[in-house]
Amino acid sequence: MKIIDSLVGQAAGITAIRRDIHAHPELCFEEVRTADVVARQLTEWGIPIHRGMGTTGVIGIVEGTGPKTGRAIGLRADIDALPMQEFNTFEHASKHAGKMHACGHDGHTAMLLAAAQHLAKHRDFAGTVYLIFQPAEEGGGGAREMIKDGMFEKFPMDAVFGMHNWPGMPVGQFAVSPGPVMASSNEFKITIRGKGSHAALPHNGVDPVPVACQMVQAFQTIISRSKKPVDAGVISVTMIHAGEATNVIPDSCELQGTVRTFTLEVLDLIEKRMQQVAEHVCAAHDAQCEFEFVRNYPPTVNHPKEAAFARQVMTGIVGAENVRVQEPTMGAEDFSYMLQAKPGCYVFIANGEGAHREIGHGGGPCMLHNPSYDFNDELIPLGATYWIVLVNGWFKSEAAGTGA
Ligand SMILES: [Zn+2]
Ligand SMILES: [Zn+2]
Repeated sequence: MKIIDSLVGQAAGITAIRRDIHAHPELCFEEVRTADVVARQLTEWGIPIHRGMGTTGVIGIVEGTGPKTGRAIGLRADIDALPMQEFNTFEHASKHAGKMHACGHDGHTAMLLAAAQHLAKHRDFAGTVYLIFQPAEEGGGGAREMIKDGMFEKFPMDAVFGMHNWPGMPVGQFAVSPGPVMASSNEFKITIRGKGSHAALPHNGVDPVPVACQMVQAFQTIISRSKKPVDAGVISVTMIHAGEATNVIPDSCELQGTVRTFTLEVLDLIEKRMQQVAEHVCAAHDAQCEFEFVRNYPPTVNHPKEAAFARQVMTGIVGAENVRVQEPTMGAEDFSYMLQAKPGCYVFIANGEGAHREIGHGGGPCMLHNPSYDFNDELIPLGATYWIVLVNGWFKSEAAGTGA
């Protein structure tokens, strides 16, 4: 592993910052203290900052001392925590009840801070690095809010890169793939309005329950019959609510759930077909249909050239045998908005199996969104090395020249 020596030297200081952030988790758009910590560190290292982007976002600006090329690259870390109770009791466990850094965004912030500290001292690159500390990844769409706030106009950049830790993979490995790596995330709510009646006299009413049952079944034929078999898509009905008594046919029934796809074309098709199926199944049974469909995060799609470049950077650090192919998952990620606007790539860094956790960790697995999770501080110099080699390589590479 070719980790930059000085990053190992400064790791203890950054680990302390990571643990401080872990102990003080803040939720979507409330990351005031976290943003203060980031802003204070960047300022201390002589990096100019812009605050308040997308509410609590912070941008650090590192100008290279090389030839003025006008080129710029964005590196993004998310900074928010999750609304859940931490089971760990070690010293840096959450001090805020019901809030926890269970997705490792404290670690993402720390890895980017480690890179910032190094870049501030070694500016021999030809262009500008924007350090993007983004709020509200966990459902708030902080990336979208930063873009709406004019991030790419105020800080024009040719490419953006993101990184997430991934538990279960041995430390020292990375994973990356071109194309879709995470899905679009969407929610639906369907209300079937029937007509309540005595359960012993169903012919006097319109029972919404069998309508709901048929609808749930019919939705799965959209997956198996309407879309191309090679296109990925998931419809999960996760909530069905109707009725309050065994002898009363309810007036209405509500279905809710999620739809995941890797492309907007498949999403368009599924949304259209779901509405048709819902309305027509209702009509067939003389029930009324209310159909709501909300699109949340779009699919996260890596640009091929930037993905190839990221793989090359990783290979140089940990060797080809430690750079895995990232299997797409149906989870979602709001870095997708940045990748819709700019070329770039979202990669994964292995967090290990959980043996790094200190005494007093919870009994559960060290998985993302698990109450016993903790970020692996061993990744700080490795992740920061990735950022720095990426920056230096990118300004020298052909990719930077074409901006593609
Ligand atoms: Zn998460
Ligand atoms: Zn996350």
